[in-house]
Amino acid sequence: MAVENALVGYVRNRGDAIVEIVVEGEEGNIKHFLNDLKRRGPPLARIYKIEVKYLDNEGGFEKFTIESSSENTELSGSVIPPDVSICNECLRELRDPKDKRHNYFFITCINCGPRFTTIRTLPYDRSNTTMLKFPMCDFCSKEYRDPLDRRFHAQTIACSQCGPKAYITSKDGAPLDYEDPIRESGRLLEEGHVLAIKGNGGFHVATATTQSEPIARLRKVKHRAQKPFAIMARDLQTVKTFARVSREEAKLLTSYVKPIILLKKGDDYYLSELISPGLHNVGVMLPYTGLHVMLFDKVREPAFVMTSANSPNEPIVTENDEAIKKLGPTVDFFLFHNRDIAQRCDDSVVRLHGKKQSIIRRSRGYAPEPIHLKYSVDRCVLGVGAEENVTSCVLLKDKAFISQFIGDVENVETLKFLKAATKHLLKLTNSRIDVIACDLHPKFVTTKMANDLGNELQCPVIPVQHHHAHIAALMGEHNFSEMVAIVCDGFGYGLDGTAWGGEILYGNHDGFKRLGHLQEQPMVGGDFATLYPLRMAAGVLYESANVEEWLLANNHRFPHGEKEVEILIKQLERGVAPKTTSCGRVLDAVSAILGVCYERTYEGEPAMKLESAAIRGKDVLNLQPRLENVINTTSMIEEVFNQRDRYSTADLAYSAQSYIARSLAQFAIEKAEHLNIKVIGFSGGVAYNEQITLTIKRVVEESGFTFVANRMIPPGDGGISFGQAIAASFQV
Ligand SMILES: [Zn+2]
Ligand SMILES: [Zn+2]
Repeated sequence: MAVENALVGYVRNRGDAIVEIVVEGEEGNIKHFLNDLKRRGPPLARIYKIEVKYLDNEGGFEKFTIESSSENTELSGSVIPPDVSICNECLRELRDPKDKRHNYFFITCINCGPRFTTIRTLPYDRSNTTMLKFPMCDFCSKEYRDPLDRRFHAQTIACSQCGPKAYITSKDGAPLDYEDPIRESGRLLEEGHVLAIKGNGGFHVATATTQSEPIARLRKVKHRAQKPFAIMARDLQTVKTFARVSREEAKLLTSYVKPIILLKKGDDYYLSELISPGLHNVGVMLPYTGLHVMLFDKVREPAFVMTSANSPNEPIVTENDEAIKKLGPTVDFFLFHNRDIAQRCDDSVVRLHGKKQSIIRRSRGYAPEPIHLKYSVDRCVLGVGAEENVTSCVLLKDKAFISQFIGDVENVETLKFLKAATKHLLKLTNSRIDVIACDLHPKFVTTKMANDLGNELQCPVIPVQHHHAHIAALMGEHNFSEMVAIVCDGFGYGLDGTAWGGEILYGNHDGFKRLGHLQEQPMVGGDFATLYPLRMAAGVLYESANVEEWLLANNHRFPHGEKEVEILIKQLERGVAPKTTSCGRVLDAVSAILGVCYERTYEGEPAMKLESAAIRGKDVLNLQPRLENVINTTSMIEEVFNQRDRYSTADLAYSAQSYIARSLAQFAIEKAEHLNIKVIGFSGGVAYNEQITLTIKRVVEESGFTFVANRMIPPGDGGISFGQAIAASFQV
């Protein structure tokens, strides 16, 4: 565009990811050029701000050139691109027999390909990426240097001659001789084999989707009885054969982010029920690299299971040797390539509530692109998350950089990943921490990590109560200085040291007040009540119903049968059990009473299956909210229990969720009216539930209040680091 406007000068990348352009020429041409810059950028260009300064002296330029990158870093808070899925032009070339990159799986251009997962350090040049190992051939290098070419300065440029190569090995890592390894891998999957497939940000474990045998085998070796697997479908048309796809979902499925989207199974769902057992939805994504596209070429399978490959509670595997060691026992073959992965990055997961998105896991395609705040903070704050679904967040001026998905930080490997990812984020954003924010829970490993880092850097560490972080995340994302929020999840350490999780809070810049909460319910057997939700149900029903008989009749639902039930009854008689206000536990109890789920084998399972059970239900109980000092939940659970033979599971599941949603909304409305607050938010893991979210939204809006939920960051604990950083930034 500079050349078109008859300008001379140069452009270059700087170490802080700012683009520096110096142009010289007629003033009118310069103005025209600035206009072009704003209007005619390449598809992926995001211009956040243009600063223009006129210089007095001439630069003595003869033409317009692209200078090599400078190490200059004035400003911190640079913007690092996330990975981008294969673009249509590359896709066309991949298919074109006359194209140099015909059939080349690692085809990329300036508009697509890995970014975050290949960048080791800034500035973003090939030498700072894992492509360093692959010197460009003459053909690629000519394109790389040609300003008129789509691959001009495309750092991941490569072809079959000079770029990464793919190959198949046995499960022990012994290379196998396949001429067309990627398409052969697709065939091996269709034949019923389990493969580990290396991608851009980590390994997937893959199987066919129309056969149950390989999925059952995979579940057995992974000890993953029920947790849903994500699948990758051939194309949008194919997705529509087994799932319902709204216009908004189609748009997001085919966007350059290509996240996994939880889609409702269609009426003629024909894939294996083992993919997402007991759920009404299935996580679907579309191929996002040339390799993925080619997997489907020689097969008729509509989709493949593509689940992150990791050992239990460990981060996704990224290195070839590690993969053979850790995944070898799980798979039949490996499909490797020889490009290293600089940053591991799982697939993102999104679901839509009506037309609005709710991000469950914000990772590939999003991270580390910052969330832009509508205001600026003075100090650089690091948030380190809680314990489950952890991310870290660097809050810097008007940007919040949230790391990729880390996982549940319970073991050394995941903690190491959190530390490394945080360090990398600080390096990429060129920032220095002034303040650290962590959870209030004294025993979380993230709390310890924050304190250690605080000592090392000599900076203050601010503990932020779990649900306070959730409301702060809503305030930060939507730029409100105060609001009332409903925050519902499974567990958060309360100010009084007890387990919170069904909270109505008022939040502002000074902190928060707990306005109310769900009734406290006993967790008989402590954490066992989380794993076996019948225990929750028993605790709630003990005072009013004849639960002993019911429990004994259901003793086969307990791992130790009748003996366990007898001990449980003694525990009920003694009446000593920790209490919780958790909304998740109430949903769990209903799920168990209705026989939907008796054991939690993955996070949120009983409540997720309850939502699925409710999908075709209606409100038959129509219970009116009982709001005393707290939101009564016992009466609803008793009603469900007493009516369980009268109504269908779907109707009772729906009625229970309806009661919880309407009660929470009504309570929040009363408090907001009293405080004269106009905005009511909803956050926490329960906010993934579509029926509950849409019901709260409807009741809140019908009463004339503004409803807000998290759209850009996860409402679950993946958004906690962001909320912690926002809450702490108000305090310093
Ligand atoms: Zn491309
Ligand atoms: Zn080449």
